[in-house]
Amino acid sequence: MSIYDLTIDKLTEYFLKIDEKKYYATELFSWLYAKDKRITSFSEASNIKKETREKLSKDFTISNIEIVTVEKAKDVRKYLFKLNDKEHVEAVLMNHDYGNSLCISSQVGCNMGCKFCESGRRKKVRNLTTGEMVEQILKVENESNLRISHVVIMGIGEPFDNYDNICNFIKIINHPKGLNIGARHITVSTCGLVPKILEFANFPYQVNLAISLHAPNDKLRKEIMPIAKVYPLKDLINAIKVYLEKTNRRVTFEYIMLDGVNDKEEHALELVNLLKGINSYVNLIPYNETDALQYKRSKPLTIAKFYDILKKNNITVTIRREFGGTISAACGQLRSKKEDI
Ligand code: SAH
Repeated sequence: MSIYDLTIDKLTEYFLKIDEKKYYATELFSWLYAKDKRITSFSEASNIKKETREKLSKDFTISNIEIVTVEKAKDVRKYLFKLNDKEHVEAVLMNHDYGNSLCISSQVGCNMGCKFCESGRRKKVRNLTTGEMVEQILKVENESNLRISHVVIMGIGEPFDNYDNICNFIKIINHPKGLNIGARHITVSTCGLVPKILEFANFPYQVNLAISLHAPNDKLRKEIMPIAKVYPLKDLINAIKVYLEKTNRRVTFEYIMLDGVNDKEEHALELVNLLKGINSYVNLIPYNETDALQYKRSKPLTIAKFYDILKKNNITVTIRREFGGTISAACGQLRSKKEDI
């Protein structure tokens, strides 16, 4: 087991179980996560006694992922990681004026099968462990020498299909002695697993929830997102209402602009109707075209018109700033290039 799998509570339990001092949990967290420490071997944790350090090395691993390649463009770096079982996942670092944001992967492959998405071309192989997700941040901070201030779980995988690990991941990176990343700077994106949205409404951290909507009606949504056959829009919207009531947090709706598919005036009007009265905002995403899939990005003018219709109808809307088009930074593209599938 990786030491980065453990929340501070689990680490405390561990030390108590081996008859060790409880405060070692805080000490060790600081050795693992404080910027000036970041040990790569337990032997470096000098204020923890030797026998305990040896016990830790027997019970836990410390480094489980490695960077294979880094592709750089203006304000963006794309990382390809190799995991212990030789699988690959990716993460994207974006430099914004408000800080550095890292988009991390949550699974190897993905079972959601969205038609426009490169990641889904490879079925889920397994969930990433909590530690593998934490390490994506550590490795990127180390390579870039930057502090990651924002994390979005929007890389390969469906986070709510790996629910428990995601929750532990959030607890660790949010903890003041962990990576101390503010809950409001953490965003989980889901294609809409209704039971998990309801469960997440009770998760006591003020993180952001983004919903990959991509279509304003069930017919079209089912065509491009198979998950819509399991959870129709009515159920999805109801779950979001419950979530809003419990958390008082605004949700984001992601809407990829696909040329001729979901970008017509009638779609914009349907979207207005669907989202009326819901405390949310819409993020229009220019589609990142990918070689293996036939979808095209909407024309800039079409996106602008769509935007105007939402705006005129009092929907808060933004158009996503683009990063990394030239380095295949869309979900799953780097991995599939590397593995050639
Ligand atoms: N499974 C989760 C998170 C990963 S996908 C989800 O569905 O939300 C993160 C976002 O990237 C989703 O909104 C997804 O639909 C979008 N996406 C996938 N492929 C894309 C592409 N080629 N261009 C732009 N956005 C893409």
